[in-house]
Amino acid sequence: MQARNDVNRAILLQTDATASKKRVLSDFLNRATTEVNRVLPLRQGCKNASEFQIAVAPGLRANAGFNIQVVCDMARSTWRKHKNCMKVKGTTVKFNVPRNCKTFRMKRFSFVELGMYPRERTAIPIRRNRNWDRFSGLLGSGWTCKTYGLTPSLEVVAYLSRPDAPLQARRNVLGIDINAKDFAYTVLTPEGKILKQGYLGQQMWPKKQHFAGRRAMLQSLNASKKLKRMRHRQRNYVKTNIGQMVREMIILAKRYDADVSIERLSRFKPRGRRFDRKVMTIPFYLFRRILEGRCFDNSITLDRVDPYHTSKWCSRCGAVGRGHDGGNYALFRCRECGQAVNSDRKASLAVAVKTLLERRGFPDQNTLQISGRRVPVSGLLRPSPMTQGQMAVPTPTLERGKPTGFSRG
Ligand SMILES: [Zn+2]
Repeated sequence: MQARNDVNRAILLQTDATASKKRVLSDFLNRATTEVNRVLPLRQGCKNASEFQIAVAPGLRANAGFNIQVVCDMARSTWRKHKNCMKVKGTTVKFNVPRNCKTFRMKRFSFVELGMYPRERTAIPIRRNRNWDRFSGLLGSGWTCKTYGLTPSLEVVAYLSRPDAPLQARRNVLGIDINAKDFAYTVLTPEGKILKQGYLGQQMWPKKQHFAGRRAMLQSLNASKKLKRMRHRQRNYVKTNIGQMVREMIILAKRYDADVSIERLSRFKPRGRRFDRKVMTIPFYLFRRILEGRCFDNSITLDRVDPYHTSKWCSRCGAVGRGHDGGNYALFRCRECGQAVNSDRKASLAVAVKTLLERRGFPDQNTLQISGRRVPVSGLLRPSPMTQGQMAVPTPTLERGKPTGFSRG
């Protein structure tokens, strides 16, 4: 039971191994990769992970000569690989504490010692950098590390876990709308007062256009080498900026004592080719992964709400309209009351309103006081399954945020 509620994360620790030690490590990993590629096709004859492990472990052990725990973990992680995957370029091998792994300090250096072969251990010096500081900090605050991994880049991943403690809800809500150009946010009190609205990441737009223009030029010249280099630069630029924006969001959430709320998006609705191309430049999954990690670090609940009608609902009269003003996606104009507002800013308000509704439990919510005005909110709610003649199921509306996977530190 306890294990299921555990929260996990992984931190990449850079190593300072000497050249000869690096050779030992890469020999080991080459052997592991060869073995993984050998057993990958054998998955077809097996029904489940344990059957596969029993089938391949003796062979892996005999061929590679690794310790048995290492071999068993290799078999299990090979089983979990994508079923169409028939060849891997490299593999991360896991070592369990205390059987095959331990950490120790000597003078000013810290080591992770990996048991790779029977009676053969290799101690790897770890670089003292920000990741190391974060890792040590987490170990000091209730986290444990029971597994270390050796990555194809000859670095060490520390897999940390901690029992999940329930978070206390913060008073206000910070709703975030993710759109093509930037992020719009609204801080809303439970009484429906707007404390702050604004945008984040607007500086990214001109730069993105710059990249897009340059890419078109390079593509027309067929300059594949330069294109590759540019893609790399662009990825780094976006990653750095998303990290900075998430930091600003966390600062806002703390300053206004707010939980963070985003739309639960499985995909973007198609809204024309031009629009799609713009939206695709926001790396939504990267953003969400970073946000999940930072919210978790700061004990902030991350709510994910149903995106139903958030862009079509009018925040003044509650009517549900077309969502935008003709060809202008940036402007929301209500057909009922004539309100014309920035659609992203309004959508972030709708996300915050939805979070409030979910906190209270919907059933008898028809209106909500927003900025001194009673606004009908029924347009934001998906029609209940009862009216569609199906079984009454409580709508799964609120997923309490917690990191879904490992976020690299
Ligand atoms: Zn209206």
